[in-house]
Amino acid sequence: MSNRVALVTGGIGGIGTAICHKLADQGLAVVANHLPAEQELAESWQQTERDKGYEFALAAGNVADFADSRDMVQKVEAEVGPVDVLVNCAGITRDKSFRKMEPEQWRAVIETNLFSVFNVTKQVVEGMTSRGWGRIINISSVNGQQGQFGQTNYSAAKAGAHGFTMALARETAAKGVTVNTVSPGYVETAMTASMGEEILAQIVATVPMGRLGRPDEVAACVAFLASEDAAYITGTDLSVNGGFRMG
Ligand code: NAP
Repeated sequence: MSNRVALVTGGIGGIGTAICHKLADQGLAVVANHLPAEQELAESWQQTERDKGYEFALAAGNVADFADSRDMVQKVEAEVGPVDVLVNCAGITRDKSFRKMEPEQWRAVIETNLFSVFNVTKQVVEGMTSRGWGRIINISSVNGQQGQFGQTNYSAAKAGAHGFTMALARETAAKGVTVNTVSPGYVETAMTASMGEEILAQIVATVPMGRLGRPDEVAACVAFLASEDAAYITGTDLSVNGGFRMG
């Protein structure tokens, strides 16, 4: 896998960081995307990772915005190289019951979690098909598979991401480019920490494994799908949820 370049959107977040680690461990040059407003935080993250022995490039860009995504990928390709592996991992929640949900909460989640998948994939897919090799991995969620109270926006975006996976997988299958989804259950990151201990305890009580997932457990699945060994897997939705949802 050496000389290949991976771009991880939301790469400095909880699951994104673990994905950067696993892909670098596989020998890829890894670029972590972050929001432009988070430049200082991203540079401090980069230094922390350097201290651990990881050399990650940074790419500022708001993936909810098409022009920003285009400019970001152009810069990555000029400075690091063509993107061979894209992990669409950036995501947000704006939970509200549907009755109370405002258009802004709907729009923010759909634009960040679903438009982003179009915005960034659009920049890399032609290069991948023309080179005859590529991996696109979309991070969805168990709540896109089964829905969740208070998450009509998030569940719609995450289910949409897998619809995108299946359709694009058909378009690129014969050209050496696989497209897959990874759907985590509840994972220990800032996103779940913000839910509060009581709600998390209630959720954990319903997980057959009796615990939250770890970011590295999600990242291991992403790294496998990005590898040569996963060449015959496309259009799939790999669940990583401790048995929370089966089938
Ligand atoms: P996280 O730590 O909050 O990471 C998400 C990252 O995406 C953050 O660094 C965030 O930046 C960034 N981001 C948000 N909007 C962006 C934009 N427009 N452009 C570029 N970057 C943007 O959350 P996480 O738990 O690692 O989640 C990673 C992915 O896994 C998400 O897609 C999430 O939906 C999915 N997921 C998470 C869980 C879970 O239990 N944690 C379960 C299922 C699926 P800011 O921090 O500045 O917003």
